[in-house]
Amino acid sequence: MSAPRALKGLRLRGELVLPSDPGYPLATQLQNTEYDTVRPCAVAYCATTEDVAACVRHARETGLRVHVRGGGHSFNGWSTGEGLVIDVSRISRVAVGGPADAPTVRLGAGTQSLDALDALKPLGRQIVTGTFPTVSAGGFLTGGGIGWQTRRFGTGSDRMVSAKVVLADGRTVRCSATEEPDLFWALRGGGGGTFGVVTEFEVRPVDAPLMTGFETLWAYEDAVAVLAAWQDWCAQGPDEIGSSLVVLPGMFGPGGRPVVKVWGVDLRAGDALERSLGELAERAGAKPVARTVGPRGVYADVMHEALCGSRTVAQCHRTGTGPGAEGHRHPYTRQSYRLTARPVDRGGAAALLDAWEPEPEPEPVPERYLLCIAVGGAANRVGRTETAYVHRDARFLIGAQTACRDPRPSEATAASMTAWADRCAAALEPLACGSYINFPSSRVADGWEADHFGENVPRLQGVKRTYDPEDFFRHAQSIGSRTPTANTTKAGS
Ligand SMILES: Cc1cc2nc3c(=O)[nH]c(=O)nc-3n(C[C@H](O)[C@H](O)[C@H](O)COP(=O)(O)OP(=O)(O)OC[C@H]3O[C@@H](n4cnc5c(N)ncnc54)[C@H](O)[C@@H]3O)c2cc1C
Repeated sequence: MSAPRALKGLRLRGELVLPSDPGYPLATQLQNTEYDTVRPCAVAYCATTEDVAACVRHARETGLRVHVRGGGHSFNGWSTGEGLVIDVSRISRVAVGGPADAPTVRLGAGTQSLDALDALKPLGRQIVTGTFPTVSAGGFLTGGGIGWQTRRFGTGSDRMVSAKVVLADGRTVRCSATEEPDLFWALRGGGGGTFGVVTEFEVRPVDAPLMTGFETLWAYEDAVAVLAAWQDWCAQGPDEIGSSLVVLPGMFGPGGRPVVKVWGVDLRAGDALERSLGELAERAGAKPVARTVGPRGVYADVMHEALCGSRTVAQCHRTGTGPGAEGHRHPYTRQSYRLTARPVDRGGAAALLDAWEPEPEPEPVPERYLLCIAVGGAANRVGRTETAYVHRDARFLIGAQTACRDPRPSEATAASMTAWADRCAAALEPLACGSYINFPSSRVADGWEADHFGENVPRLQGVKRTYDPEDFFRHAQSIGSRTPTANTTKAGS
């Protein structure tokens, strides 16, 4: 049956956008412009769980392939393809409930981080989010969910209490520690788009009404010392500091030179952060070229400032997705990301930066970034098999990413980007203890399942067999996928 015919009879409370509709080009976009060329047969903006179930049943009956989409931030385009995109972005209600001594937050699976922060602010609650405003709960929580609160409060998925899920057979179930416990276990780190479509999460809020944001910039000449010192500082520092480090390309640095940025939040009061930042400079043996410490403020405001700067909530959404939205999209990228268990020493830091430093052959690599997010802390006080997120010894997510503004770069540029990402992957390899499914590398290594899920692979495969034996929900790196592993995992496979 042709795709348009296959869609006949699919009725939604939400909206079905077809290729002939004027809204189609926008409806097919992900965060990354690289996937603008992928043409789904339709995009179903589901308004309710029943809409999702209708899409699943319809696709089963007509043999349509489906792609589950939340905020559309999958680096490798796993939330799109040529089939029916089941989009949950409009399922985004946020509510506070539960008993007074064990409150919970209910989040529609399409809720974006910045909308959750904003909605919870007047309700006096907050949750663990990542460090990008428009990532949605659907992909974030099912992959694990790390951010600046992870060292103090665990991963986002460690705080999951229950989830409402539409299964491959069209049934809707709620899973928790006592209902469908294996599914509940798998949804906490086993990866999105694999076991079903989550429409609602219930999570435990964090007890952190106030925090302080900070940002420091360091000269590129000090990059080796700062990278090594920052990793030690994070690993030995208090769980209350959440921090990232990024080496930015010359276009962002003073005098056209690359620059190192260390930024984050501190949940402590008083002058503790000032003292800690002094200690970081001492460890590095260098002084930052710029340093900003914000006022201690309400959680939502400080996170908003870090994620969106001076833009309003409406402006911070991705361009085209709402009135006034002007959030940028990401370009064509190639990336290598790994998790590491120990801080790098200066030798290790120098090796990483050597790989990162561009060489003009065969083609100059366009923009390039080296990003680290500190993890560990509370996340590492949970057993490796307690949830599907296995990386309980990881201290850092480290990755190298190159970006090209042209969504269709020349073959030579694409090849040089891939070669650069491979070179960085080789530099990361001796440091790595695993890979995080929400930051997948462009190139898939042999043994990717074990790298992402460790000893949890057999149990995840079992959950997949129980809940989706025909592999209805799949993408190139979903557990149990029958899709052959290619050396890249881009959309549409
Ligand atoms: C700029 C940027 C910054 C990021 N920062 C962080 C960070 O700080 N911390 C962090 O942990 N991660 C971060 N990520 C990674 C992010 O968490 C993952 O890409 C996540 O999977 C995105 O979720 P999404 O719903 O927005 O994306 P989508 O592309 O819509 O979905 C991602 C995956 O989840 C599946 N999925 C989506 N919704 C559902 C659902 N409701 N039910 C079942 N499966 C679903 C999709 O099928 C797909 O496989 C970042 C990504 C980007 C691009």
